[in-house]
Amino acid sequence: EAPQHPPRRRPNVLVTGTPGTGKTTTCEMVALATGMTHIEVGKLVKEKGLHDGFDEEFQSFLIDEDRVVDELEDVLAPGGVIVDHHGCDFFPERWFDLVVVLTCPNDVLYDRLEKRGYSEKKIQENVECEIMQVVLEEAHDSYDHSIVVTLQSSTVDEMEENVNRIEQWVDTFIAQHA
Ligand code: ADP
Ligand code: MN
Ligand code: MN
Repeated sequence: EAPQHPPRRRPNVLVTGTPGTGKTTTCEMVALATGMTHIEVGKLVKEKGLHDGFDEEFQSFLIDEDRVVDELEDVLAPGGVIVDHHGCDFFPERWFDLVVVLTCPNDVLYDRLEKRGYSEKKIQENVECEIMQVVLEEAHDSYDHSIVVTLQSSTVDEMEENVNRIEQWVDTFIAQHA
């Protein structure tokens, strides 16, 4: 039987969205405001080698999803973690109390990815992913609709507003689970 964890007193939050929508920046600010632990999955994958090599065609690591889940299980058990990843379908559903899907207008996203030095092909792939709402659909397929929230992150004002909203949501969860 799977080990039973006591109910979380602090929430776990997943922030997902197309690359460039502002996940890492937003998560860093939420972590500062709330004291939550920020886990950037892409960085963890590189640091701990949780991949099956580099895919030259897609210019990205082939994430070993099972090893990522094993690595994070105990970290997320007590709650208080904000997870940052562009995909969301391989995490256990029970891990998260809130799933935030960040979105961004196409032209703004294009400029951000160009500044990041992405190839034209990779920019096009990601902008198309954003237009098709691929990550939002993945979130709706993977989690209860009631915990999925879409937030636009186009301007600094919007980002600050999003950070405040997530912080308030976290505070409310903690108050309700004290
Ligand atoms: P992600 O982690 O989703 O790939 P980042 O947080 O790295 O995205 O953001 C990509 C770039 O866009 C960064 O240079 C960041 O400073 C900028 N950025 C992100 N969100 C906003 C926003 N709401 N307003 C202005 N710039 C933003
Ligand atoms: Mn990031
Ligand atoms: Mn998968």
